[in-house]
Amino acid sequence: MATYTIRQYGDPVLKQRTKDVEEIDGTVATLVDGMIETMYEAPGTGLAANQVGVQRRVFVYDVGDGPRAVINPRIVESAGEWTYEEGCLSVPGLSWQIARPNQVHLVGYDLDGNEISVEADELEGRVFQHELDHLDGILLVERLDEDQRAQAVRILRSRAVDLAPRDPDGLFAL
Ligand code: ZN
Repeated sequence: MATYTIRQYGDPVLKQRTKDVEEIDGTVATLVDGMIETMYEAPGTGLAANQVGVQRRVFVYDVGDGPRAVINPRIVESAGEWTYEEGCLSVPGLSWQIARPNQVHLVGYDLDGNEISVEADELEGRVFQHELDHLDGILLVERLDEDQRAQAVRILRSRAVDLAPRDPDGLFAL
């Protein structure tokens, strides 16, 4: 199974909203296999399809229970607040304390076309929100407060394009 190149900050594909998958077929299964492989190789906890250049609403994740894929995901409810150090495979080597809702209710479809309904909090809830943001064309730098954002922009501007897509500490990255 071939892995994909993870698109990096600055790539316009990361800023575009993805489209629903119309038919869950072999093409989607192949995409998911490649995304899971790519996520593990990175290594990361989650990966959205547009991070590998595919403009469809699909993400994969593994929070310790094995790999899962969600097709056409939607968050239908969220509650609480949780601040957590969050990184992104498309913005490698950087992370910030970001506050988001803690509990989320995610719905979507699995690869067999069955409906999925998952209520998650903490790490899993965070992964869902981060990947949904990707699929809506939103990067985590857009979730930063003003100070964090100014610092992020400085760092990202000073960086070379050919970054190693890996965080040295194996930090939580999505
Ligand atoms: Zn990410």
